[in-house]
Amino acid sequence: MDIPALLKAHFKLEIQEVVPLEGYGSSNYRVDTGNGQFVLKRYRDDDDRRRLLETESKVLKELSGLKYDFPDEVDTIFLPNKNADNEVLRLHRYLQGEFLAQVSHTTALLHSFGRFLGQMDRKMAKVDAHKIGAREISWDLRYFLRNQELQSCIPAPEDRRIVDYFFLQYEEHISPIRHKLRKSLIHNDANDWNVLTRDGKVSGIIDFGDMCYSWLINELGVAVTYVMMGKEEPLEAAMALIQGYHGVHPLEEQELDLLYYLVGARLCTSVCNSAYSKLQIPDSSYITISEKPAWSLLRKWLSINPIKATNKFREAAGFKPIKYPEARKQKKRRNEVLSKSLSLSYTDPIQMYRSAFQYMYDTEGNTYLDAYNNIMIVGHCHPSVVRAGQRTMARLNTNTRYLYEEILSYSERLLETFPRELNKVFLVNSGSAASDLALRLAKCHAAKEKIAVLEHGYHGNTQTGIRVSHYKYAADGGGGKDPNVIQLPLPQVYGSNLTDDGTAGTYFANEALRLLVPEEHKVAAFIAEPIVGCGGQVPLPKGYLRTIYREIRKQGGVCISDETQVGFGRLGEHFWGFEAYGVVPDLVVLGKPMGNGHPIGAVVTTEAIARSFESGPEFFSSFGGNPVSCAIAEAVLEVIQHEGLQEHARMVGDYLKNRLLALQKEFPVIADVRGSGLFLGVEIRTADGSPGTEIAKEIKNQLRHMHILVSTDGPYDQVLKIKPPLTFANRDADQLCRAIKVILEQDNYDLAKKK
Ligand code: PMP
Repeated sequence: MDIPALLKAHFKLEIQEVVPLEGYGSSNYRVDTGNGQFVLKRYRDDDDRRRLLETESKVLKELSGLKYDFPDEVDTIFLPNKNADNEVLRLHRYLQGEFLAQVSHTTALLHSFGRFLGQMDRKMAKVDAHKIGAREISWDLRYFLRNQELQSCIPAPEDRRIVDYFFLQYEEHISPIRHKLRKSLIHNDANDWNVLTRDGKVSGIIDFGDMCYSWLINELGVAVTYVMMGKEEPLEAAMALIQGYHGVHPLEEQELDLLYYLVGARLCTSVCNSAYSKLQIPDSSYITISEKPAWSLLRKWLSINPIKATNKFREAAGFKPIKYPEARKQKKRRNEVLSKSLSLSYTDPIQMYRSAFQYMYDTEGNTYLDAYNNIMIVGHCHPSVVRAGQRTMARLNTNTRYLYEEILSYSERLLETFPRELNKVFLVNSGSAASDLALRLAKCHAAKEKIAVLEHGYHGNTQTGIRVSHYKYAADGGGGKDPNVIQLPLPQVYGSNLTDDGTAGTYFANEALRLLVPEEHKVAAFIAEPIVGCGGQVPLPKGYLRTIYREIRKQGGVCISDETQVGFGRLGEHFWGFEAYGVVPDLVVLGKPMGNGHPIGAVVTTEAIARSFESGPEFFSSFGGNPVSCAIAEAVLEVIQHEGLQEHARMVGDYLKNRLLALQKEFPVIADVRGSGLFLGVEIRTADGSPGTEIAKEIKNQLRHMHILVSTDGPYDQVLKIKPPLTFANRDADQLCRAIKVILEQDNYDLAKKK
């Protein structure tokens, strides 16, 4: 039977027009009759539906006492079908008004929305909910984790990881206290296409199809999410709503303290279901109506410090903000227990509390864009990495004297990224331990003592590490150069009057050979970074390494590439730095990004070098190569490959470098922009060409106050170092460059003064 016939037969209505409406879980129609307008909902009849409709009837009856519009039930008919599913037809009153989505959101409107929801929830709390108490729907934030199975429908890995981050945070923040949360019957879908308005105020709500017996705060979790979409200042919108709600239906502090993560959960529920629905019904615009604004708010949500959001939510309800110990007091405590030889960044140090991908959150509610931490290569708190650690730590942690899978699968996978001749791995716990071991292996294999190093190089904090690090031994109180160290000039193209077409490489290689040749047959190893980080992000000139490697090998020594900073795809074009120069080292030192912040380092070497070492005492490290570290490191490698982060580093790195080069044209203090991928250096010089130490420091500190993190390095601390997590995007590059421009413009650097 068609709809008009059904309506006539079962509701005795004379139909003027039937207009199909969008719907989710039912077929909906607007029915115009001589006696007014109605909404017909047509459902499949089953036990769950009956329980829901029964509760809905009770709720609508209870709500009819309020001075708001609800879709009162006119009549309900159960239709048995012989050859198909049984059906239910329910006729509701049709409500007039404009949807919240169609009107401008004044503070008064949002406040009235909060009051409305609060009053509705107070009434709903009185309804016997036992019939739907066991309802489990993926739109109920209590069952948010169910949406994990839809995550794979999201096509872009950079989107998937954000969703996964909120799954992880839900497990961290919400799961442990779920049993403590107040429960109530809630509408659970106060989105802006369900909420009606009239005369600048909320007048009612439709669609109780997602109603469930859930945590009371989830009502706001949903409502707040939708009112924040598309807003310049989303937290202000949320505050108006919360204030209105709290005024009629008081909230608890612990409920508001979860709201940040519940909003994240609702946004993720929405985008997961949109992604799933798109695969099922590619041309449905209704199901995916909020997809774009949801993604946009989700990305924005990550850039909002959870502490800031939570304290705003608290403020709206009149609760005191959560306070953390003052930075000043923490600094004092620190000085009591830690040596001052550990430095703090910035004139005004930051007390960090949480982090997510390229963002770091301090205890004051600020969000910092991290353009500096090359360790967090796949992003702070990347969920795949965190979980790999959690999972393995809960299962097994032991050492290399046992057989276990993690060390094998990781070593195999790591070696796949190297040329074939580099086929043995030693796992340790830091870059320093790795460079120390690499030098030991080198000396053992070459049976010689001398080590050739580059000026301004840094290779680690052990005795040996310091001995080969000009950056440290040549510093004040650094102890000076060891007689067994051969110090080669930093082959820096910038400032040399040479070009990087091979001329500079030849020139600097010849300079080095002058120092190396007389040491014939005494050099065990040459160690260098492919781009000298502590030297101020200095790329080696073309052809340089080739000549040096040839000479070292001719003398019976070995070549070490310290990839601690640049490795794992950061350079964009190449996964390992040595590849950029067409050489293959004998030993490679790995660290920093290898575990995305978890302490793991490695030496990768050849069969022959490993064999030489085997004739000596056993090598053992209590922690090196433990299953937890290996699982974490494997997750890092997996994420880099799976999310295409090397290519991303190339694209964003090129984009950023070009923007920096454009700034160089505008501001003469920028003397050089160098590096590759997301490992860049900006050399600052004063007008007379001397190192711009003070200016660089000023820029760094001003950026910190604009909530962007970079560091400075180089012989005079005159180079801005930019080496962000590889989740850094073009818009982050824009933010960074805009800020640098503002600083340089505002100070109009009187370079003579700032020398
Ligand atoms: N080598 C290089 C090139 C480094 O930059 C560092 C750390 N800055 C190390 C080795 C030592 O690594 P770690 O601090 O993990 O011991």
